[in-house]
Amino acid sequence: MMSMGDYPREPKRSHIPDDVKEYVMRRDEGQCQACGSRSNLQFDHVIPVAMGGSSEPENLQVLCATCNLRKGPGLST
Ligand SMILES: [Zn+2]
Repeated sequence: MMSMGDYPREPKRSHIPDDVKEYVMRRDEGQCQACGSRSNLQFDHVIPVAMGGSSEPENLQVLCATCNLRKGPGLST
């Protein structure tokens, strides 16, 4: 079911299962974990997939688009 390449436009970055997204969104109370915003929310890999991070709930957090952009690829804060 979870074969790679299902999302050719976003390889590896966002193949987060729907149930995991639901779990993380509920756990993070539907708000950005950096600033508390509730708009433009995205799922962020705490450890980037490129660096071996998984798409497990433990490695995911909710960030708004602004904070996610600010974090940028490869930067850990
Ligand atoms: Zn934010």
